[in-house]
Amino acid sequence: MHELSIAESLIKIISEEMHKHGLRKLLSVQIVYGQISAIVPEALETAFEILTHGTDLAGAQIGITVKPMVVRCQRCGREFSPSHDVRLAPCPDCGEDIGHSIISGRELYIDHIEAE
Ligand SMILES: [Zn+2]
Repeated sequence: MHELSIAESLIKIISEEMHKHGLRKLLSVQIVYGQISAIVPEALETAFEILTHGTDLAGAQIGITVKPMVVRCQRCGREFSPSHDVRLAPCPDCGEDIGHSIISGRELYIDHIEAE
């Protein structure tokens, strides 16, 4: 369950950010993650709850948004979101089905936090 270590580093970032701005209570956090970053949202949420229990970050609302994977066809340059495995998805324009480069879908970041 790598969600636990992800939650740990997210909490570290949030704590530092809150400290910097003199905020004491975390109200909500919006997390964005890429479709292929292999995260189970429920597990991330649970990990977050466990790790923040009894801290200033406890009880915050957690929103998780999935960003679809986008690849660029190596032959014609068309960008598209394959509906299944990237290695086998044919390009909608030229039909090329190998060597697409991944443009997005691996990211994981905090979109914004609300605190007081
Ligand atoms: Zn193509």
